[in-house]
Amino acid sequence: MAMPQKPPIATRTLTEAFPRMAGNPQLTGRDLKTLQGILDRTREFCDQHVRPRALELDQRAWDDIEDFPWDLAREGGKRGLFSVSLPPQAGGEARFMVTTLATVMEEMSAACPGVAVIFGAHGLGVGPLAFGGPAQWDGVMSKIVQGEQSGDPVIMSFAITEPSAGTDMENPDLVDAAHLGCHAKPVKGGFLLNGTKCFISNGPQARYVTVYMPVDPARPRATMTCFLVDSRSPGFKVGHIEHKMGQRASRASELIFEDMFVSEDDVIGSVGDGVTNMMGVLIGSRPCVGAIGTGIARGAYERLLEWLLNDPEGRLLLERQQVRMALAQMEEEIHLSRQAYMDAATEFDNVSIGKLMKDPGVRLLGKIPKRVRTSPLVQRQMQSGMSRKAVMFLLRRRVGNRGLTRALAMSSMAKARGADTGMKVAGMALEIAGLSSGPLRAELEKLVRDAKLTQIFEGTNQLNRLEVAEGLSLGGEIGLLPIGAGKLPPAVDRPTKVSVNGASANGVAAPAKAVAR
Ligand SMILES: Cc1cc2nc3c(=O)[nH]c(=O)nc-3n(C[C@H](O)[C@H](O)[C@H](O)COP(=O)(O)OP(=O)(O)OC[C@H]3O[C@@H](n4cnc5c(N)ncnc54)[C@H](O)[C@@H]3O)c2cc1C
Repeated sequence: MAMPQKPPIATRTLTEAFPRMAGNPQLTGRDLKTLQGILDRTREFCDQHVRPRALELDQRAWDDIEDFPWDLAREGGKRGLFSVSLPPQAGGEARFMVTTLATVMEEMSAACPGVAVIFGAHGLGVGPLAFGGPAQWDGVMSKIVQGEQSGDPVIMSFAITEPSAGTDMENPDLVDAAHLGCHAKPVKGGFLLNGTKCFISNGPQARYVTVYMPVDPARPRATMTCFLVDSRSPGFKVGHIEHKMGQRASRASELIFEDMFVSEDDVIGSVGDGVTNMMGVLIGSRPCVGAIGTGIARGAYERLLEWLLNDPEGRLLLERQQVRMALAQMEEEIHLSRQAYMDAATEFDNVSIGKLMKDPGVRLLGKIPKRVRTSPLVQRQMQSGMSRKAVMFLLRRRVGNRGLTRALAMSSMAKARGADTGMKVAGMALEIAGLSSGPLRAELEKLVRDAKLTQIFEGTNQLNRLEVAEGLSLGGEIGLLPIGAGKLPPAVDRPTKVSVNGASANGVAAPAKAVAR
């Protein structure tokens, strides 16, 4: 057989990688051009700054857990990679939020999954804001865009997991059985947050965190609420930072809340709609994890192929049918995982939740000049109880439980499939290259370590497969309670020792978490 001279997958255009995109009537020529532009910028970032440093970043994180590649974050920020999932009204580019972020995730993960997760966990932290509606466009979202422009990246994280509540926080039917330690106690003017979240990606670096806590610990499902937290506020600190097996460039840590006051304005959406918000975010984030797994597989495959084509020992191996069949199987796995995550992303963006972003009311608000939109009068309207409930109302009415269940099952399928593909293909590549591949061996070993986490976070693969069985095989429905279910406990006076706006009641400045840069 002739020796192949195949170009690497990395040179394929968006529509070559996803042929069905070209025929997707929801995507105009302009959308495709925007997406291709984002992909090109991501590739250029990865080629110049990520892939050459992937092994070094992995080792640095192991040697010094406090260290973080801020220079790399700045380079990514310069290319707008922290704002790709923001709506255009907030200065982002994502008319198709999940499609965009997933495309970026595959590309970055092929270079270094740890770096991908810095940007991916940030996107996850931004996710809940989308359900806060237009009121969120001009707050933290615009600070993210400003941070990119000024070279001072504003990174976010998303916090649901607790030491005694992992999987139980990721399905509405399990939340009431979870052993939750976090609690948002209603006090006059806001809430006092207490408790510990753990394994939070970007935890040590996040300037803002979207965190979920119940207002009544006896009824978490009915009273779960999402809060936007500024990590420089008193009462917040970063706890233990994990020494991770893989994806080390992204740090994961505990976040500790000690009588941290947040105002009513810091509630995303409204009190009690946290579980619906959280599930909406997970439906969007799981295809992105599928894309990370796919990217890991692609990274391993590309590295192996390069070695097989260029190294004398590799070329000998390539003569074997067994190796060629393995290559075909890898290509097949990557292709199918990519279709799965793109289908789930399309379902989110065009069929279910993303449809809300194209709601005529939302579109109309987006046309109001920012100067007018940010005036106190309009802001008051956007922060009103009715506006806060609007997104959830539209979600339940337009998408409905059945639509959400289907979107969840599709996203869970993409996540589990992509994660398994990452493990499988990285393992196959390592087996073929083996000991004789020199430096490639270290890169492939890293990708095998990196792949494992994709099977765990955003819900373990086991939980995700249960979602597929429930939503697609058995035709079940996601267990969301009706909007406004259950009465909330009354607000009490705040204890006087609690600090507000950086100063404690006795006038002493409260310690804020220093962010190392
Ligand atoms: C490095 C890292 C980064 C992370 N980043 C974040 C983050 O940014 N934000 C965040 O909030 N969380 C994050 N997580 C948490 C992650 O989502 C959880 O670890 C995951 O959901 C699993 O929870 P657990 O570790 O408590 O395992 P457990 O829930 O204790 O599960 C243990 C095992 O039991 C199985 N199991 C549990 N319950 C069921 C059930 N009902 N039915 C069937 N099987 C079940 C699981 O599938 C698993 O195999 C991260 C985790 C890690 C390790």
